[in-house]
Amino acid sequence: MADDGRSAADALWHEVAADFAATRGRTGIAAPSARVWQALRSVPRERFVDESWRPQAFDNRPLPIGCGQTISQPFIVALMTALLDPQPTHRVLEIGTGCGYQAAVLARLCAQVVSIERIAALAAQARAHLRELGITNAEVHVADGWQGWPAGAPYDRIVVTAGPEEVPPALLAQLARPGRLVLPVGDDGWQVLRVIDQAADGTRSERNVLDVRFVPMPTGTDDDA
Ligand code: SAH
Repeated sequence: MADDGRSAADALWHEVAADFAATRGRTGIAAPSARVWQALRSVPRERFVDESWRPQAFDNRPLPIGCGQTISQPFIVALMTALLDPQPTHRVLEIGTGCGYQAAVLARLCAQVVSIERIAALAAQARAHLRELGITNAEVHVADGWQGWPAGAPYDRIVVTAGPEEVPPALLAQLARPGRLVLPVGDDGWQVLRVIDQAADGTRSERNVLDVRFVPMPTGTDDDA
């Protein structure tokens, strides 16, 4: 049994490695690259959850972050990051900032992260978490992610961490050529994780990777409610 933060983290990433091995037939990824592992290990997940949840921060499962939302399961963050394959020069758009954990991981791997959150209170928390970690290449905006963030387009990579029922057309329009979009798509609380690749000439190909469960993706912001 883990007896301190360090070995609890080791145990978590060991479990995540086992999840990659178990799903490689469907994901095509046997293990994340060394860069991605390093980014995952360098972001303290416990700093992104409320103090009362800190003892569970190294469990390989989603946790509540307030406002009815969750921080994603570590394996899913790792998988989406690996599928996205962000490069040092890339600009990445994330829809669904939540507590900012995935944004922090991405910020370690690319040039700039633009992250969109519809709930203002969560966006404020995420900005505070990113600031505390000294992350300066991730910006958080309160907006409806269904519309993307046209001001920063095009993006080399786009990742969606809530579950829309269909692919938001604005995100396809804001994807660079070449570019890649990773998102869960589906209804009734279940989605399939989809990878959409756009080539330099604009042609697209897609593959479905794994059944996943994300919070829904309502449109509008909480100010509209
Ligand atoms: N990326 C987070 C997970 C966030 S959970 C992590 O690192 O753990 C999904 C988030 O998407 C929630 O905070 C939810 O409020 C947000 N969301 C849902 N629909 C949205 C929309 N239309 N626009 C922007 N954010 C949205």
